[in-house]
Amino acid sequence: MTLKEIEKEILNCKKCPLYKTRTNTVAGEGNPKAKIMFIGEAPGYWEDQRGIPFCGPAGKILDELLEKIGIKRNEIFIGNLLKCRPPENRDPKPEEISACSPFLEKQIEIINPKIICPLGRYSMRFVFEKYGLKNELKEISKIHGKIFEVKTLFKNIKIIPFYHPAVATYHPTMKEILKKDFKILLKFIEQWQSQRK
Ligand code: URA
Repeated sequence: MTLKEIEKEILNCKKCPLYKTRTNTVAGEGNPKAKIMFIGEAPGYWEDQRGIPFCGPAGKILDELLEKIGIKRNEIFIGNLLKCRPPENRDPKPEEISACSPFLEKQIEIINPKIICPLGRYSMRFVFEKYGLKNELKEISKIHGKIFEVKTLFKNIKIIPFYHPAVATYHPTMKEILKKDFKILLKFIEQWQSQRK
């Protein structure tokens, strides 16, 4: 299966009632060979309008954070736990997560990233449960910016949870915390660059 094929399935998905209120599905975008994959929660107003992840105010902050560490959007993959916008941006419901997460699982399998960065508590919970880190789950305020290593069948993956960038839209001091946390990625990027030399 390819990312394009998954995108098509998402486009036609009616597995949960969110299809009734969506304007567009938001499958995710970026490099199919990305070493770093960011996973947000669900599309908001602008994402629903445009079908692109993180293209509203939270996306502006994400872009700023990426720019600070010299990463371009086309080098990474940005996805979401839910592919359709919950009305009024309410929190995702458990049944929506169960209906939608198989798409994310397939995307992770195809992209096969070295580092997964869940943005916010919903995607953090999902990723931690998926990779057997349930016992490590704490409030995001306690584990944001920490590196969790997991062994999968074929390789080790690092999971680094971050606060959701939207928090910085209403708490400006959070942007500094996010900037500091994002810097953790620099160490790995530099490692990969030196391996290529
Ligand atoms: N918030 C998210 O979690 N995802 C988006 O794509 C936009 C805002």
